[in-house]
Amino acid sequence: MARPQVRDDVALMDGYHSPQLDVAIRLNTNEAPEPPPQGFRDRVAEAVQAIEWHRYPSRAAGELRSRIAQVEGVRADQVFAANGSNEVLQTVMLSYGGAGRTALTFEPTYALHAHISKMCGTRVVEGERTDDFGLDLDEVARLISSERPAVTFLCSPNNPTGMIETPETISAVLEMVHAVDGLLVVDEAYGQFSPWSALSLVGDDNSLIVTRTYSKTWSMAAARLGYGVAPAWLIDELDKVVLPYHLDAAKQVAGIVALDYLDEMAARVASLVEERGRVTAALDELEVDQWASGANFVLFRPRTLSGTDVWQALVDRSILVRNCASWPRLDNCLRLTLGTPDENTAFLSALTDILEPR
Ligand code: PMP
Repeated sequence: MARPQVRDDVALMDGYHSPQLDVAIRLNTNEAPEPPPQGFRDRVAEAVQAIEWHRYPSRAAGELRSRIAQVEGVRADQVFAANGSNEVLQTVMLSYGGAGRTALTFEPTYALHAHISKMCGTRVVEGERTDDFGLDLDEVARLISSERPAVTFLCSPNNPTGMIETPETISAVLEMVHAVDGLLVVDEAYGQFSPWSALSLVGDDNSLIVTRTYSKTWSMAAARLGYGVAPAWLIDELDKVVLPYHLDAAKQVAGIVALDYLDEMAARVASLVEERGRVTAALDELEVDQWASGANFVLFRPRTLSGTDVWQALVDRSILVRNCASWPRLDNCLRLTLGTPDENTAFLSALTDILEPR
């Protein structure tokens, strides 16, 4: 018996992996360094006890959506919640991508934008950025008018560079997208670490969805919960496409309870932003190039040793960062996820030791 063959386009694909090694300090997956407050854990445990396990969960996840809407200052009918912002992106592409349609990305960016698009049968056009990883608006305009993408992706702060798009840039790209009747996705998985948000541009007259996640700010990567904020007419389309009851009951209560801990989460974001300042100032003193980050991670490139050698030397000291050295356009680059102050200090002293051995 011959094994069944996967779709031709899937057969050609590489999966998306983030290798984990057994190290003391893990700074490679952009997670929050600390768990949510104990009060959150206790309340979720209690709420889970009260779940009626023989019943399907709320299909519309109405309470969760209303609470998210309240926190983000939008209407509940402008919110779509899903299993991580990855599932929001997938639902967008199932709804607006597909055969005969094009998605546009500007590389380097989050690999899942292109991957999910392809998985949904969408042709992907990879636009280029400038040498310093900024967007060239003339190039963006050229590609949008020639390719007429159904979906254009931006990511702010961008992963893996950490760089932020300005309000002027997002507004300009939104106008270009409108001119071809397309949709703009602004991925704000790291939005809370950034000084501004494209959420302010969401409205019924704009074909814009902003995606966010509980995985980073809310220290809840384990929960797999994210959301999109968009015009109500767009949310209606996503609701038609997503599987019924995709958000389980435990996840819904965890997402609701988390939003009672806004102050604690804001304090965590503030301390990570402060650490970002301290770490980037220290990197400035070393033989590395770095890119201005508005996120909870920093992309840097050693000037005197290869990226992979530095990555390995860090692993030898039981510190894991993301090795982007072999990724297209990211020669020799490494990405550091900010950890606790102690972890960051350990990273800086290891890196100093590697780059400036005494
Ligand atoms: N967007 C970006 C830019 C990310 O870096 C990530 C996480 N790596 C995600 C989306 C997905 O996050 P999640 O599915 O955990 O919400």
